Amino acid sequence: MAKKKIKNKIPSKVWEKYKVEGNKLTKAKNCPKCGPGYFLADMKDRFYCGHCHYLETKKKE
Ligand SMILES: [Zn+2]
Repeated sequence: MAKKKIKNKIPSKVWEKYKVEGNKLTKAKNCPKCGPGYFLADMKDRFYCGHCHYLETKKKE
């Protein structure tokens, strides 16, 4: 009675782009939705959370 389930889950580790300087996380913003521990990926003009797909646009000076 074993049911075989095909899981097509591809883990996306593309967004694990944390900026690490020495042993310190720099410029890594926490996701306001997921809370501490979930960092936003620092992109060109926005921050992105790969966990909940939260987007935060960077402010232009
Ligand atoms: Zn998030």
